[in-house]
Amino acid sequence: TSSSMKPHVMMVSSLGHGHLLPFMQLSKKLASRGFTISFVTTFHHMPFLQNKVNAAQEDGLDIRLLEVKVPQDHLTLGKVNSNSVQWHHLPPILAANDRLQPHFELFLDDFLQRTDDYNLTRPLCLIADFLLGWASAVATKFGIPRVNFECSGSFSESVHEIVWKILPRNLERTTSGRYLVPDIPREIRLKPSQMLPELPEATETNGTHLFWKCHRAGNKQSWRTITNTFYELEGEFVDFFEKVYGPVRTIGPLLPPEAFQDSRKIIPAAVEMGSNTDELRCLQWLDRQAPRSVIYVSFGSENSVSSAQVMELAMGLERSRQKFLWVLRRPTDAGEASGSALDYLPNGFCDRVKEKDEGLIVLGWAPQLSILAHPSTGGFLSHCGWNAVLETTVMGVPMIAWPLYAEQHFNAKFVVDLVKIAVEAPQRAEENWLVRSDDIERVVRLLLEEEKGKELKARVDELKKIARVAVSEGGSSSNNFDLFVREILALEEQ
Ligand code: UDP
Repeated sequence: TSSSMKPHVMMVSSLGHGHLLPFMQLSKKLASRGFTISFVTTFHHMPFLQNKVNAAQEDGLDIRLLEVKVPQDHLTLGKVNSNSVQWHHLPPILAANDRLQPHFELFLDDFLQRTDDYNLTRPLCLIADFLLGWASAVATKFGIPRVNFECSGSFSESVHEIVWKILPRNLERTTSGRYLVPDIPREIRLKPSQMLPELPEATETNGTHLFWKCHRAGNKQSWRTITNTFYELEGEFVDFFEKVYGPVRTIGPLLPPEAFQDSRKIIPAAVEMGSNTDELRCLQWLDRQAPRSVIYVSFGSENSVSSAQVMELAMGLERSRQKFLWVLRRPTDAGEASGSALDYLPNGFCDRVKEKDEGLIVLGWAPQLSILAHPSTGGFLSHCGWNAVLETTVMGVPMIAWPLYAEQHFNAKFVVDLVKIAVEAPQRAEENWLVRSDDIERVVRLLLEEEKGKELKARVDELKKIARVAVSEGGSSSNNFDLFVREILALEEQ
């Protein structure tokens, strides 16, 4: 059959690599089952995705990249210029997701009238990000079933569902100051550090609340929900979520197949955009280190910390006398100032580190999966993005949970107290809201040298095995994916 005759599925992701990467992985998985995938995106991510699409096409996968036109200032419009408070970064991204709706609607209308020009058929369904709740209404308008793709975990999504429901949110607190989350499986008590900073004060007009309210209402109208998690990891919360959202299929972790194999071979550029030299530099450096001796430090693809916190972190890492691989980004308060992220390190830091071969600093994009897969990596100091949580689980690396904003706080609760594969980052000092270097030194040692670190490692190794079973033939995620494929194909006959 010609490619245009293959069943066609359309995808639209929200902005941000943490969403694009699982979307791309899902596209490949579906394309390898004989679907044609059209991946709709804005100009912001065209170059990043084009590389991946080209590589997939070379592998014989039918994935097409389509651009929905948006104004040049689509993302920067409404950008909040905040230097210190991390969660202020979220509203502009959320606002850009909202603003996408009319543009996407015009695009889809035009696309459906000109499918022949695209050499594509009408899409059987539209798989849209959970941050694009409006996609249900748009898809319905054109008679296309909408699939809600949850790129976050079900625990964090369940907590979100509950805590935003009634505002102002006067959650009950324990005598030790923990917030009690009602109506959810297990007795969930969140420490203030595990709570969304804005929530206790939030009223009905809070931006995040309004966002969730609107998008969740849309998501609940979806034909199906798929989530990037596996049932064995957080089944009771998947069940809870399903009661609210309708049929949920857990199909994760969505990672390249190489991630589940015990080989030392470099994981292909499938989820990476760094140059090969970056990748080689990291892996060659790791090759020279002792097994499980290195702490990998990264706050994800979008986040950074303040310059004062960079200083504390540098001093803490140096004093811990543990090896480190640190993905360093410009601090949040660097503003438009020119210069490199290295300028924010203590005097002589780079020279000392180099001299004693104590660590490696990566500027920009690191080959995270390859680093986590490397036997020298013994721990991951992470902001707890959901992809980071899944990747560390699959690679069997225990974490230090250092959430910065949004659901990262709930993910931290999840990895520390529920699945127990992480230790919490030390408390911030009240006077300056910084995690102090001596506390960082202690927690890094705890993870790499002490009994507690060994316990966490044993637990994450158990989960690693379970994750691999879930995605292999006959496992829960694999079965759910098969079911999902059959459900889409059945739409063709309707
Ligand atoms: N990532 C990477 N190199 C980097 C930063 C991020 O490969 O230097 C990848 C990482 O492996 C993960 C994704 O980008 O797959 C980030 O997603 P996550 O949910 O962890 O955090 P976010 O960046 O969305 O906050």
